[in-house]
Amino acid sequence: MSAQLIDGNALSTEIRLRLAERAAALASRGVIPCLAVILAGEDPASSVYVRNKVNACEKAGMLSLRDTYPADVDPALVFARIAELNADAKVHGILVQLPLPKQFDSQAVLEAISPEKDVDGFHAENVGALMQGTPRFIPCTPYGVMEMLKSRNVTLKGAEAVIVGRSNIVGKPMAMLLLAAGCTVTICHSQTRDLAFHTRRADILVAAVGREKMLTGDMIKEGATVIDVGINRMADGKLCGDVDFASACAVAGLITPVPGGVGPMTITMLLSNTIEAAERAAGKRAKT
Ligand code: NDP
Repeated sequence: MSAQLIDGNALSTEIRLRLAERAAALASRGVIPCLAVILAGEDPASSVYVRNKVNACEKAGMLSLRDTYPADVDPALVFARIAELNADAKVHGILVQLPLPKQFDSQAVLEAISPEKDVDGFHAENVGALMQGTPRFIPCTPYGVMEMLKSRNVTLKGAEAVIVGRSNIVGKPMAMLLLAAGCTVTICHSQTRDLAFHTRRADILVAAVGREKMLTGDMIKEGATVIDVGINRMADGKLCGDVDFASACAVAGLITPVPGGVGPMTITMLLSNTIEAAERAAGKRAKT
């Protein structure tokens, strides 16, 4: 069997066209969706992510604000800026790029963002809402994965879903979404005994670890849908996922590539959440 690709670039283009229409509709009512991004420190990968997010906003007819701080910034300055952005009615989404420098309490920073503007969906209130099945903002990466599954009509009800990785930003919210969609969900992590035992049972396998090509074809069930969230830089400078693409392709039914898979979808869903926030704010304004 040779797996079919779920092309994240193509799906993103399609979704971003619809988002641009929603942004234009808001603009005609005098509301320009605006995302504020805060970057502290000089992590090269973070700088690239922030640049991509800001560029994507502009292409979709949205505004973006970018605040950058040196690695040794006093956290009080960042908290003060977040408070300002929370109070600014023209700003609809606020995102703090992680990881933050060591003097920060990252959780406290995420909690300082107004839940109505927390387009990453990391605020405890929004995590709780997701857990209860009434999400306000769905974290962008798992949201993008769900859109990819939907685009290929992957059966979720009753499916065995195995997620490798249990982070707050990918693994856990991914589990909640698949559970809500009717999957039987297993979450694996670094303490899991016999990882392959679990992954071989998966109809849907989501890899979110950050280890180059760790999931090989012999760990995958024939015909499975394989979603590779991982982004790893190899010794030759090229990017690869957590899945060994060549051997996985021989057994999987559907597979996402790296690059060009989940990555572009993550940014697309960030735009979607920001437009959603702007539409909610505009709706509130119309009612008052
Ligand atoms: P974290 O480092 O926060 O989490 C990694 C998870 O993998 C942990 O739960 C860890 O387990 C688990 N793990 C580590 N080693 C093993 C192992 N040998 N077997 C099984 N599980 C293991 O990473 P993130 O969730 O933030 O990101 C994961 C990957 O996804 C990274 O490559 C990251 O770059 C990428 N990413 C991609 C995005 C995109 O847009 N495509 C967006 C976000 C992330 P434990 O909890 O026990 O330590």
